[in-house]
Amino acid sequence: MGQNNPFASSTLVKLKDKNWLDKQRVAGKIAAQCLATLQQYVALETRLSLLDLNNLAEDIIIKAGGSPTFKGYKGFPASVCISVNKQLVHGIPDDTVLSDGDVISFDLGVTYEGAIADTAITCIWGKPKSEKHLALVQATEESLMKGIAAIAVGKRLGAIGNAIYKYGRSKGFGVINNYGGHGIDWDTPHAPPFVSNKADPEEGIRIQPGLTIAIEPMLVIGSTTTRTASDGWTVLTDDIGAHFEHSIYVHEDHVEVLTDRSKL
Ligand code: MG
Repeated sequence: MGQNNPFASSTLVKLKDKNWLDKQRVAGKIAAQCLATLQQYVALETRLSLLDLNNLAEDIIIKAGGSPTFKGYKGFPASVCISVNKQLVHGIPDDTVLSDGDVISFDLGVTYEGAIADTAITCIWGKPKSEKHLALVQATEESLMKGIAAIAVGKRLGAIGNAIYKYGRSKGFGVINNYGGHGIDWDTPHAPPFVSNKADPEEGIRIQPGLTIAIEPMLVIGSTTTRTASDGWTVLTDDIGAHFEHSIYVHEDHVEVLTDRSKL
């Protein structure tokens, strides 16, 4: 889930110890497992509704001993934000059944003993409507990896948004910067700092060991202006959008991706 209200003060950033990390690793693994499963269902061109997919993920989370972070968060009614086509983020799953070429993103959080991991992917159901849709999805995922690769102890947080923005623009896509990533705290999915998808590399706090954040680039084909639907949640664009997110933890000498699906 993205954050759109930059926090007033970066001095509130809380670093996390091993006790947190041990729990967050479990949360991250459950969250990654959910997305991998949802990705498989899309690849199989499932006829399940968006609500069925939400319930499937919720079952995985609960059976694994976690709880769905977003359910009830600020009144959000579901466990997974599911956004299709012009819905960029924060879509509410309903009885919609996907059809050929739909671009669908899943964004979910898992809380495990108070520690949280937040992660998102975008996939295409069936045959893409356009090569550009495939390129958008690919570029968004790559921009996330560029953002993660830019992290190093001693650099400033803005290095992340700088890498994401430059990469997204180099591929010809719009980069959303009124929503972005965020810190994570005990039982709190959105905590300082705000992690912008467009930043100067010299701005923001210094990256330190113990920092945990969610990084979430959103790239669009059309204008980067967004609007919120009448449901009060769904963020809309005027064309197709894509969204990827990982939760990471900064160590002295490396960055740990807690929601890495390739390590399941
Ligand atoms: Mg998030």
